[in-house]
Amino acid sequence: MGCPFFEPQRPLEPGDWTEYWTHRPRLPLGEAYSGICRAGDPHTPSKERQRELCNCGYARGRCENFPKSSAVDAVRFSVISNEPLRVIYILEKDYAPLEHGEFDPNGEPDSVLAHQARAFAQSYRKQRAAAAKAQAV
Ligand code: SF4
Repeated sequence: MGCPFFEPQRPLEPGDWTEYWTHRPRLPLGEAYSGICRAGDPHTPSKERQRELCNCGYARGRCENFPKSSAVDAVRFSVISNEPLRVIYILEKDYAPLEHGEFDPNGEPDSVLAHQARAFAQSYRKQRAAAAKAQAV
């Protein structure tokens, strides 16, 4: 689950700080992203924070930027259809679902949720293409 305040900007390439994960975790956005914290004044968190918290969520009490008043602890995405690609989001609080819905690509284009959903969809398509290519070999 990603942090609900993390706006992913670009996937990290091998050789970026992804090498810190010797056993790569299953990442909420499909792969590791660098990005911006939108809690308070927008800023770029440290690499360590992005790696440990922004990309992985549940930062309440572990990140001083995480707003105490936030109703949501983390965001999870899941695919419900491949053709066309349809994605649902699940907002979590205390490790339980709080709210869910289908991501509307025509909805609020600049919301953090929209940025995360697009990043998830992009990574999902990339991984499917890589799997199809590997099967064809
Ligand atoms: S810096 Fe903290 S509050 Fe901001 S996106 Fe990262 S984990 Fe969330």
